Amino acid sequence: MLLWGYELRNAFFGIDQIAEPPRIVSFAAKTNDEKTKYFSEYHHDRERMLLELSRTLDDADALVAWNLPFDDTWIRGEIREAGFEEPTPYIKYDLMREFHKGVRYPSKKLDYAARRFIEDSKSPVSALKIWLEIKAAEKAGNEVGLRRLWNKFRKYNIQDVDLMPVIYETYRDWLKPIINQNVYAEDGVLVCRSCGSDRLHKRGLYIAPSGTTYQVWRCECRAQTRSIHRIKGVQGR
Ligand SMILES: [Zn+2]
Repeated sequence: MLLWGYELRNAFFGIDQIAEPPRIVSFAAKTNDEKTKYFSEYHHDRERMLLELSRTLDDADALVAWNLPFDDTWIRGEIREAGFEEPTPYIKYDLMREFHKGVRYPSKKLDYAARRFIEDSKSPVSALKIWLEIKAAEKAGNEVGLRRLWNKFRKYNIQDVDLMPVIYETYRDWLKPIINQNVYAEDGVLVCRSCGSDRLHKRGLYIAPSGTTYQVWRCECRAQTRSIHRIKGVQGR
């Protein structure tokens, strides 16, 4: 988005001050274990990028993003404006929210989680800074510089996406599964809700406030699963 303003402090912008409406200029996405794909209005063109974005959502059973309500609504707004059909429904999994559920850290930024918990040593990067440099290179007609900056943009975009599965794997036991794997299991067979393995070990009982007692199982991936069938009466641990 490009805005005209009068002051820096406590600035308020009205709709008449919008010089260029906001838009998505690139995206990176990963499907299961496949290599992360990337599309941008520079490396491809805007139409192709939005087509790929709309296809990605349409094909997805679940969409995982850091601060998903932000990205998801922007994406939907843009693909709708571009004339694409509404994607088929998908599970919305906000990794930022799930990662911070029941725990407190000083920052919710992906960059913070990467540096503190994943020991990802990449230097912090400002997307806005690169974007301003891209605009300056465009204005100067500096094609070589433009390519270098866009490639930098691509690199950081992809890095951010690649970080998410690492966070999910590292904290599998703490995070709600994206899709409960029992939906794919045979009838009557209990599998780990997180990874789908049937190598489960008994780990005591969970007594719900209502008094219903469930068997708790722990998987080799560390995630816990409760039996679907409740145990009648309290049993010894
Ligand atoms: Zn598991």
